[in-house]
Amino acid sequence: MKTCVISLPDEAATLSLGAQLARACGSAAVIYLYGNLGAGKTTFSRGFLQALGHQGNVKSPTYTLVEPYQLNDRTLYHFDLYRLADPEELEFMGIRDYFSGDAICLVEWPQQGAGFLPSPDLTLTLRYVGEAREAELTAQSPSGQQSLEQFGQGRDQA
Ligand code: ADP
Ligand code: MG
Repeated sequence: MKTCVISLPDEAATLSLGAQLARACGSAAVIYLYGNLGAGKTTFSRGFLQALGHQGNVKSPTYTLVEPYQLNDRTLYHFDLYRLADPEELEFMGIRDYFSGDAICLVEWPQQGAGFLPSPDLTLTLRYVGEAREAELTAQSPSGQQSLEQFGQGRDQA
């Protein structure tokens, strides 16, 4: 299984997808989140963060570009590159440091950082289906493949 399509009838389903994927990922992963405005990228990230023990708000890092989280034993960086004017800005923000360590990186609007971001382990594409959504999850590396398998097993048990 390299790709997995999941239907998301409501917001709770998007949050739950985030939580399921969080449980399937190790402590180092780069996940690109594609989808139009309002498709559910930040909602997915909220479910992901909450499953790792985050209790407060999850604000969209639209203006700051990145929001760091220290969660129990894991470090997570939530990026939103929507407002990134020039991908070269990522160099000035020291992008390499975010991706070099043992961290999970969730990246909204990765296409805005093309050429300056490391390649992903997983890509998630969220699409509108009427009022609901659909997600397509694809492994892009051996470690992403492992997470995707783990994710599939978790869903079979649920
Ligand atoms: P993005 O970060 O992709 O711009 P957000 O997560 O900020 O999107 O917003 C998504 C909006 O859609 C929120 O209002 C949320 O309640 C709603 N939503 C999320 N998932 C679903 C779903 N599966 N079905 C219907 N509405 C959803
Ligand atoms: Mg968002």
